[in-house]
Formats: sequence, structure tokens, C-alpha cells
Amino acid sequence: MSSIANNRLATWMLVSLFTAQTSTASAQDFNALRNKMVTEQLRNRGIKSVAVLDAMTKVERHKFVPEALIKEAYNDYPLPIGEGQTISQPYIVAFMTEALNLMPTDKVLEIGTGSGYQAAILGELVQEVFTIEIVEVLGLQATKVLTELGYENIHVRIGDGYEGWPEAAPFETIIVTCSPRKIPQPLQDQLAEGGRMIIPVGESHTQELVLITKEKGKLKRQSKLPVRFVPMKDSGGRRY
Ligand code: SAH
Repeated sequence: MSSIANNRLATWMLVSLFTAQTSTASAQDFNALRNKMVTEQLRNRGIKSVAVLDAMTKVERHKFVPEALIKEAYNDYPLPIGEGQTISQPYIVAFMTEALNLMPTDKVLEIGTGSGYQAAILGELVQEVFTIEIVEVLGLQATKVLTELGYENIHVRIGDGYEGWPEAAPFETIIVTCSPRKIPQPLQDQLAEGGRMIIPVGESHTQELVLITKEKGKLKRQSKLPVRFVPMKDSGGRRY
């Protein structure tokens, strides 16, 4: 082998070694950041469900954010994911998930797939997740990430979540991560008897996170938290 080829080989080996080392180091950094997030943002603020805390410790949130924001993935705020949409703050994801009081046998419907992060958390906790996203590029990107991570129990549909997913209904739990003014009738209908729904309702500046339970066919409503989510829109961009 010529010395030039030798040099090239040496350089290649050095570069490979460097890349391997930095990627291991950053994986460790992400683990540390994730553990810190769970302790400081979730446990210290009152999230108690061990199952929820475990799921949030396991799911690699940085895989769901745009490359340019990867270092901020575990910070205490929502992040833009493109198309004017956001991935919710970690605490809100944990709070909504805990409020649903999930059983491992539940079938969950999510409206607003976004990055797919909330769906992955749900996928860790229940048997089957059905999630709907109206913005095609986001739905496709979320499907790609969830498939790469091996979630076979999460089904993504691109469409208008206002209508729910009638073929898969009824759902023991429904989580809505975009905000309509009122609770969509199809979602009320698709909630199983004894089921729970968590949904941010209200005007664009003043919304309330509401927990709905269905008992003997009637809905009970409990206010949980003032919040601000992106609006639920129809395919023409009009707000529901
Ligand atoms: N759960 C997401 C956060 C989603 S942000 C996550 O973990 O990343 C809210 C999402 O709801 C946006 O992606 C938005 O495009 C979507 N959305 C808005 N109106 C919708 C509708 N009618 N049906 C389905 N998705 C909708």
C-alpha cells in the first residue's frame, strides 16, 4: 500500500474513532439530561405515577425534535417542530398522561400526533395507540421515528382528528393535544363507558385542561390547569 493510501486509512480510522467516541459521549449526556428532567421537572413538581416516570425516563425525547434543537430537547419548555407546531413541555406531557390513569389494557386515541413523542410515551404504557395528525409532513415524520424506534402498537393516521377514529372506537382513553373551543361530539361519542378524556378547551389565549369522564353515558367535567396549546383546525385551516 502506498504511503498516501496509508495516510488516508489512518485519517479515516481517526475520524471513525472520533465520531464513535463523540456519539457515545452524547448518548450518555442525553441520558443524564433525561434523568435530570424526570427528577427536577416531573418528580419534584408532583408527578407520582411510577409508570409515567419510567416511560419518560426511557423514551429518548431528543429523537423527536428537529436536529438544530436537539440540545434543548430536555429543557423545561415546548419546542417548535416545524409547520408552526410544537412538541409540548415535558411536564405537560407527564401531567396529561398521569391524569388519564391508564391501564395496560387500554386502547388510547390521541388527536395531534405532532412529533410523535406523546404517542411514544403512551405506547410504553398501553396496548394500542391510535393517533391522528392533520399536517401530512408531521404525520409522516412521526411515523418514521416511531417505526425506527420499533413501536408496533402505535397507529398513525393523517387526517382530521375532529372526527376521531370510528372504526377503532370505543376508546377507554382519549388525549387531545390541540385545542378546540368545545369538545368535539365525535370524540364524546367514541369515549367508552367509564372512559377518560383529557383535552385543552377554550379560546386561543385562555384555555383550560379539562378531564372528562363518562359515567352511565353522561360526561363529567373537571378543570385541571390553565394551558396554552396550538389550535385544533380543520383541513381549510379554520379553528374548531
Ligand atoms: N402531541 C404532540 C404535540 C402536538 S402539537 C407531540 O407529542 O409532539 C398539536 C398538533 O395537533 C399539531 O401537530 C397540529 O398540526 C395538530 N392538529 C391541529 N388540528 C388537528 C386536527 N383537526 N386533527 C389532527 N391534528 C391536528
